[in-house]
Amino acid sequence: MPADPEPRTYSARYVFPASGPPLAGGTVTVRGDRIEAIDPAGVRTPDEDFGNAAIIPGLVNAHTHLDLSGARGLIPPTDPDHFTDWLRGVIAYRRARTPEQVQADIRAGLGECLRAGITLIGDIASEGASWDAVAASPTRAVVFRELIGLTEERATVAFESACGWQRSPGETAACRKGFSPHAPYSARDRLFSCYPREARVAVHLAESPGEVELIRDRTGPFVAFLTELGAWDPSGLIRGLGHPLARSRLVDHALFIHCNYLPTEETRYIAGVHSVVYCPRTHAAFGHPPHPFWEFLTRGVRVCLGTDSLASNPDLDILAEARFVHAHYPDFPGDVLLKMLTLAGAEALGWADEAGSLEPGKSADLVVVPLPDRDAADPHELLFADHPGDRRTMFRGEWR
Ligand SMILES: [Zn+2]
Repeated sequence: MPADPEPRTYSARYVFPASGPPLAGGTVTVRGDRIEAIDPAGVRTPDEDFGNAAIIPGLVNAHTHLDLSGARGLIPPTDPDHFTDWLRGVIAYRRARTPEQVQADIRAGLGECLRAGITLIGDIASEGASWDAVAASPTRAVVFRELIGLTEERATVAFESACGWQRSPGETAACRKGFSPHAPYSARDRLFSCYPREARVAVHLAESPGEVELIRDRTGPFVAFLTELGAWDPSGLIRGLGHPLARSRLVDHALFIHCNYLPTEETRYIAGVHSVVYCPRTHAAFGHPPHPFWEFLTRGVRVCLGTDSLASNPDLDILAEARFVHAHYPDFPGDVLLKMLTLAGAEALGWADEAGSLEPGKSADLVVVPLPDRDAADPHELLFADHPGDRRTMFRGEWR
């Protein structure tokens, strides 16, 4: 038996456990790959003090597409009414990319996530292509295999290949596989409700006004778009935007990504159970009306943050997303915002038993974030101020 590792105690100007209030001068004690204790100032003598910095839980990027990491700046977001034009750009980009380029893109995106202090990633991958790279890297993840198929034939192929992939061995102590029926305009209705209870499922929902029109009236820009692709089959469309939400009661962990145009009453199906992923800077890049995240939270819906991909976002830094929200909603409570990029993301992805907060017994996943050199009545103000500086990240007790 290996000897019990010696504990090490770290301190900083603030420790933000996310599961409780910030601790000025608090300490985090790590033993092996676990958090042993979180204490207020004065209880333990730190082995290392990071000074004017925050120690926060490892960050959670609940939604990205690492396989689009080569697309930064190449497919400018459109206005909301021309969203299908942006999708055409993404499809053309994907078709021009070789498998080797895609793997290089995945590695580059992963590297960017790791440098940002992200220790848990929800990645949607065409054909599960990011699995090998993600599972081999020092991060926790759920890799969702994308399922696309509105016609009966395409839906069957997508489902069978996803099930084969899911059954193949390879899940690790930190990486799990999930399913992503892509969106109501691209996935047949039955693809939203055919998974085992323990499955993790991620769905893009109500992203653009055209999608709302398509599901409501069977008209609008998506008809021409899908016809061009040879993929138009109105018999495969869900009957209402609430359908995937209602059917998500069949699984333990479902994430609904964007929901920019989701009528808030539809969230009754997922309040207290499932999650919405808000991607703030991508949302802003398309010029959508204000996102209803605050109202979703008021209705008891868990909301976490994602970056989405580099095809629509400037980087994969989830703390930058939170800082963007703070800058645009200065009255939004800092403790709730911190949960949105830590604990809520871990709960959404089914990893909250191990990750998402600094609590004794959880995995020692944490980030040291430099703070600005000033005071603030609420310490969250310091964390969410736009402040540069390298972050240090510990994953499962090891600095990476
Ligand atoms: Zn997405």
